[in-house]
Amino acid sequence: MNPAPTTGDALIVVDVQKDFLPGGRLAVPHGDEVIPVLNRYISLFQGRGLPVFLTRDWHPPEHCSFQSRGGPWPSHCVAATAGAEFASTLDIPTGTPVISKGTERGKDAYSGFEGTDLDRRLEKLGVSRVFVGGLATDYCVLNTVRDALAGGLRVVLLRDACRAVNVQARDGVRAEREMERLGALPAEFAVVSAH
Ligand SMILES: [Zn+2]
Repeated sequence: MNPAPTTGDALIVVDVQKDFLPGGRLAVPHGDEVIPVLNRYISLFQGRGLPVFLTRDWHPPEHCSFQSRGGPWPSHCVAATAGAEFASTLDIPTGTPVISKGTERGKDAYSGFEGTDLDRRLEKLGVSRVFVGGLATDYCVLNTVRDALAGGLRVVLLRDACRAVNVQARDGVRAEREMERLGALPAEFAVVSAH
């Protein structure tokens, strides 16, 4: 598979939100390092006239994934709060579609496809391959990639544009291996932008 973005490709930027960045409520270690890299990918896709999508956690207060409700995570990305905003240094082109997930109080969604119309939107644009990067490798990136592949899309995993939570030390590494095993092609900017 040639990793150069072309017609039929789309970029999916996963959850680059303030609560997932250092200082946020559910900070991903070194999460901020993905921002300049993702900006280069966004610029590359934009320059080629290819679609870019952003996903975000957009939880109601008292969401089931919060520890206060018996879930695994501290409260994070509550809809319309500062922590749910995209990183201020992320270069978001005007009109970029935003896919909100985890919007129901009793239901969590790690994947950008879960409970959203992302699949239909991609289909409408004739997208057959997605390039995925963002936060975090071992949760929302992993599940978005898994659902994309299960839905018949090809996937390029942007390794240099992902960081892991690593609740267990090697979760990120395991997640990358799992995505490769499922059929995702790992790539980095130098390769993706080479042609
Ligand atoms: Zn969440």
